Amino acid sequence: MTYDWLAALLYVGVLVSLTVVGKYLAFKIPALQAMRELNAAADRPKLARKRFREAVKVNNRSALITNAVFLLAILPFSLTIDSRPLWRHVVEIVVVLMVFDFFYYLTHRFLFHGRILHKVHALHHQARTPTYIDALYVHPLETSIGLVLFLGTIPLIAVLSGGPLNAVSMAVATLVFTQVNTINHTYVNLPYFPFKTVDYITSIHAAHHVDMNRGNYATLTMLYDWLFGTLETPVSRPTP
Ligand SMILES: [Zn+2]
Ligand SMILES: [Zn+2]
Repeated sequence: MTYDWLAALLYVGVLVSLTVVGKYLAFKIPALQAMRELNAAADRPKLARKRFREAVKVNNRSALITNAVFLLAILPFSLTIDSRPLWRHVVEIVVVLMVFDFFYYLTHRFLFHGRILHKVHALHHQARTPTYIDALYVHPLETSIGLVLFLGTIPLIAVLSGGPLNAVSMAVATLVFTQVNTINHTYVNLPYFPFKTVDYITSIHAAHHVDMNRGNYATLTMLYDWLFGTLETPVSRPTP
């Protein structure tokens, strides 16, 4: 495997562009913009507390450092700009996301909710009815572990599949990972078409936050919770 800095650069460029354009377009939709304002209003008193603000800042710093290490030292060996048929892009994205989700399921269930990292994870679980900012109210160790699991899945699958993965595919997979992990903490009350999926994603993670004894440990799909019998039904939430 070679150090392909151009592939790593393309990965960041595509990821940042898709994030910015996606957000711009999503909030042109009035229903989503209304939910955004509702979350921002609920987040304001939380961010007014110095300890909360500091915790978010430390979390963001930890994410930045972990991302930088992977971007400079690991991902250039695992990414390529070589073209491939569309079906291979799809396979790469699905495999990375599903393998990560399995690792995350095990880590969340047995480490974060087990004895070892229970206290670390309890910080994030202070949010009983989460809103947007609670996605960032996470202990720095938990943030790093989550990112290592996701970004570490990319070189793992690259090695197992016998070659680097496509930079654009991985930018799309990373976009799904970051957005679902943020969106699942927002307050959304749109139980009708075409917002049913986003409504479901938020209410299923809200069920996990009711207390520290609930299921729904996976973060991207509910497949592993369904398979291993830890699936909780979504909860309806009061307006924050
Ligand atoms: Zn948890
Ligand atoms: Zn959460």
